[in-house]
Amino acid sequence: MANLLRRKTVTCTVGNVRVGSDAPIVVQSMTNTDTADIASTVQQVAALAKAGSELVRVTVNTEEAAAAVAPIADQLEKQGITVPIVGDFHYNGHLLLKKFPECARALAKYRINPGNVSIGRKNDDNFATMIEVAVENQKPVRIGVNWGSLDQALLTRMMDENSRLAEPQDAREVTMEAMVVSALNSAKLAEKYGLRPDQIILSAKVSGVQDLVDVYRSLAARCNYPLHLGLTEAGMGAKGIVASSAALGVLLQEGIGDTIRVSLTPAPGGDRTEEVRVAQQILQSMGIRSFTPQVTACPGCGRTTSTFFQEMAEQIQTYLREQMPEWKGRYVGVEEMKVAVMGCVVNGPGESKHASLGISLPGTFEEPKAPVYIDGRLFTTLKGDHIVAEFIKLVDEYVESHYAAREEVAAR
Ligand code: SF4
Repeated sequence: MANLLRRKTVTCTVGNVRVGSDAPIVVQSMTNTDTADIASTVQQVAALAKAGSELVRVTVNTEEAAAAVAPIADQLEKQGITVPIVGDFHYNGHLLLKKFPECARALAKYRINPGNVSIGRKNDDNFATMIEVAVENQKPVRIGVNWGSLDQALLTRMMDENSRLAEPQDAREVTMEAMVVSALNSAKLAEKYGLRPDQIILSAKVSGVQDLVDVYRSLAARCNYPLHLGLTEAGMGAKGIVASSAALGVLLQEGIGDTIRVSLTPAPGGDRTEEVRVAQQILQSMGIRSFTPQVTACPGCGRTTSTFFQEMAEQIQTYLREQMPEWKGRYVGVEEMKVAVMGCVVNGPGESKHASLGISLPGTFEEPKAPVYIDGRLFTTLKGDHIVAEFIKLVDEYVESHYAAREEVAAR
């Protein structure tokens, strides 16, 4: 694993998950079901947890949604799913948390948006009410600023002050500073109302990569609360994945960020768990955490005129992903295995030698045989129509012979 120097923070405990300081960077996600629809929400939380989400946030926007939270948590517990559930509140969180005490108890953390909790009010009563409920129930809070709902009174005041300066900053600078000030002032207020510093996580999400980097650098330099990272409204498909990876990659490399979410817009009927896999892949690609064995596959070129090796790389990746839940329960360290599937003799043997297991398929005009390398050495050469099945068998044998069984490790 990469030895990145993490920014020092206090550690916040959310349910059974530690966030901050030396704890692993936590992957989280959010449902897009109607929370009041208990069956659908339970199903999606279960799917997100199974995909590896370590915290799952649900919208709590209505009385029906608030009333559904405790039954959702109960049903998940009955299924043996212990992922902490976080409640996402806007506008009416103070009312819902007071009226539905079971909801307040069942949630592992409350997300408060300082930009809309006290909208149109001259005092902090609503914010104070939410913090009081958190203190009563011993729950941590994420103060989640979002530039789409930034505290307008604060922004206007800061813009006015800026305009009176001899050399005013541009509007972007002031807006980014207002995001940071909103988060820090709200955290200070939460402490004033009784929350401990180790019960507070901050986030300040924007949708531009450079803006996000600037805001989080500033936030990280000015507090030691754990930070939740995410590029808000990242978008769909490749755009969302690339933008999130670019923004989170820069910050994580600088040791900033204790929990992450990738806010992808799924295609209609798309799979919500994709955001979990992308978040894991960002951390694994950077060498920060390992979740699943990695397949290194070459892109193919004019030396591979068939799609055979692409199909094989995909079949192997799918096989590894499907096996992981079982392997992870049985073998220690299996997620660090590296598998290479290469298209021809040019880079095939070399790349395969760097992997735990690698196969170098024949390119066009090459002899139809595929050397397999294990731990850097030529192990065998596969031929014929069953190369994929035979290679997968070698992968299974490798896992069994190279990774210790969990029961044995536990008994030592
Ligand atoms: S390993 Fe061979 S097939 Fe793959 S990209 Fe390189 S030259 Fe092309």
